[in-house]
Amino acid sequence: MKDATRAVTAGRNPGAHSGAVNPPVYHCSTILFPTFDALKASRQITSGDGVTYGVHGTPGTYACEEAIRALEGGFRTRLCNSGLQAVTMPLLACLSAGDHLLMVDTAYGPTRTFCDGMLRRLGVETTYYDPLVGGGIRELIRPNTRVVFLESPGSWTFEVQDVPAIAEEAHKAGAIVMMDNTWASPLYFKPFEHGVDVSIQAITKYIGGHSDLVMGAVTSNETVYPKVRQGWQELGLCGSPDDVFLAMRGLRSLHVRMPRHWEAGLKVGHWLMERPEIAEVMHPAMEHDPGHALWKRDFLGAASLFAFTLHEEFSTEAHLAALLDNLEHFGMGFSWGGYESLLIPIYPSRLRTATPWPKQGRPKGQSLRIHIGLEDTGDLIDDLAAGLDRMRRV
Ligand SMILES: *Cc1c(COP(=O)(O)O)cnc(C)c1O
Repeated sequence: MKDATRAVTAGRNPGAHSGAVNPPVYHCSTILFPTFDALKASRQITSGDGVTYGVHGTPGTYACEEAIRALEGGFRTRLCNSGLQAVTMPLLACLSAGDHLLMVDTAYGPTRTFCDGMLRRLGVETTYYDPLVGGGIRELIRPNTRVVFLESPGSWTFEVQDVPAIAEEAHKAGAIVMMDNTWASPLYFKPFEHGVDVSIQAITKYIGGHSDLVMGAVTSNETVYPKVRQGWQELGLCGSPDDVFLAMRGLRSLHVRMPRHWEAGLKVGHWLMERPEIAEVMHPAMEHDPGHALWKRDFLGAASLFAFTLHEEFSTEAHLAALLDNLEHFGMGFSWGGYESLLIPIYPSRLRTATPWPKQGRPKGQSLRIHIGLEDTGDLIDDLAAGLDRMRRV
């Protein structure tokens, strides 16, 4: 079965829902048991395997988990109430006081905040590592390193990691490999084929696809799943019924939207490269990008989220305001992966500690992160052209 068929069929069971194509929305906390024997039997059911209580899973959340698992690979998927929870839950589930965590230096900002805040307070030490470390990660692994965490391409600067090389060294040392796979979506990177043990999706982004929900998914291989399931249960995480419904609706068209995002992102990326105001475009699916070879080796497609850097002479706040104010189609806002285009300034040097940014020889101007939505690409390019013209006149 191919992914397009999986995206359409996975998790569906019309026979269980009076023939309805989609699982109904289960708004429920209490599940009633018809007899004392049934109540007693429910206590034998592992949380997350039956319908015993709203938090522990409903036919709606199970359908959504199975649909995501079918695309991502792995053994089981568990839903969380946000993408950030999908990052923090497996870390809390697998780390204890005295353990050491290797975290990629280009991790999503709030992931760093969690490591430097709650994890540190609980006695877990984090070392940030260069996203380009590859097999060199072995030099950083300590006897107490329990988790190696990846995000590829990285937030803001989009460096591609050598996932199999890092996973191989981590596994030799008995560490668990976790990866935030949100950028590629479950369609364009298959984490379990590259040595990842636990894969994280912010459903909020491309799976949701419509900027109307927040949810996360944690998919584990069979070995690590019992730990993750336990952590998920202890923290009381679950998907909310209406967000699960919206996530399923988004997922059914993911394979139709993603190729369009990929193509439109590349079109705008190539157009930006030709503009005299722009020093660099950071997009691993473009040939000039330092991460292109790894992207081509391991990925099946590309997201439409990337970044570019202005020449230093266009990098004042007045230039930014001239570019960003009065854009017609690009919104300024956080998150991404929806149907609409976004553009915001980013400050990569503020988030990194293991490796300086910009790297030697790379441009020093202001960078911006761009998300290309499903609008007409020509309209988007016209909008950007007008904005860059306004900026140049400052
Ligand atoms: C947005 C994002 C998250 C968090 O998702 P939320 O649902 O906003 O909490 C995690 N990882 C990455 C890479 C993201 O872009």
